[in-house]
Amino acid sequence: MGRAVTAIPFLLVALFLSLGLPRCRSHQEFKGVAGTRTLLQEDTQKPEVHCSRERSRIAWKIIEDYLMPFVEQEKYQISNKCKLHHDNDMFREQEQHKIHVETNEWRCGFCKKSFRAEKFLDQHFDNRHYILLNDSQGRCLADLCGALHCDQMVESKRTKTKCNPAAAARNHHLCESLANSCFPTNQGHSASRLHEFFLRQFCDAHTCSAGKQPFSRGGKKQSSVFYLAVSILIMMLLPLFYLIVYLYQREMNKGIQVLKRIPKTGRKTKPS
Ligand SMILES: [Zn+2]
Repeated sequence: MGRAVTAIPFLLVALFLSLGLPRCRSHQEFKGVAGTRTLLQEDTQKPEVHCSRERSRIAWKIIEDYLMPFVEQEKYQISNKCKLHHDNDMFREQEQHKIHVETNEWRCGFCKKSFRAEKFLDQHFDNRHYILLNDSQGRCLADLCGALHCDQMVESKRTKTKCNPAAAARNHHLCESLANSCFPTNQGHSASRLHEFFLRQFCDAHTCSAGKQPFSRGGKKQSSVFYLAVSILIMMLLPLFYLIVYLYQREMNKGIQVLKRIPKTGRKTKPS
């Protein structure tokens, strides 16, 4: 009975974890990739890449959180001529082959090598799988950072830098050209609605006049925050549960010992 009781929280945690917490990709997804293509290059000349992986990642996160939910809602297909299309992010294929096994373990999806931190895996991609980094066709997502408010994303908690009207105008222009190329208003109602949405969500805030905030239309619902909160709660309640079980069992054992002692002492006092 006691063992069954102590197993309950383990089962609960296991069930919970299998439901949603680990968001790393399964190994099967990458099966065969390394076999079909030669992805390790040590002999060929490593090209210089003039595109920030980190900023591209931020730009992608913004697209994923603040644009794609609305594009999906409209069931609209972004053309690959649009700079926001995933084909135009040179790091996308590598980023999709990152396996976050646990806190201090990152694995390369191409060759299955493990690393202690994400930055070491990034270096590994740069050194060993750079054939995927083809920036010849302007596939640098980081170039769109001005329009997409990457700095705002990073510096949201730091002190704000002074607004530069020329930079704001430049970013506004870039932003509008993205809206025009990705959501051409002559391509139906969905495209028109998304064009309008894009201007409000991203472009309006490119101004030095106060009061305009980017992502005014909101973003993806953060279900992972919910999972995190629940898991923290479980982790906090788990020791308490075990303490209660421990105390309960100790009391039970005491009771048994007392019961055992009674007949013994009873026997001793018997006159022989
Ligand atoms: Zn690798």
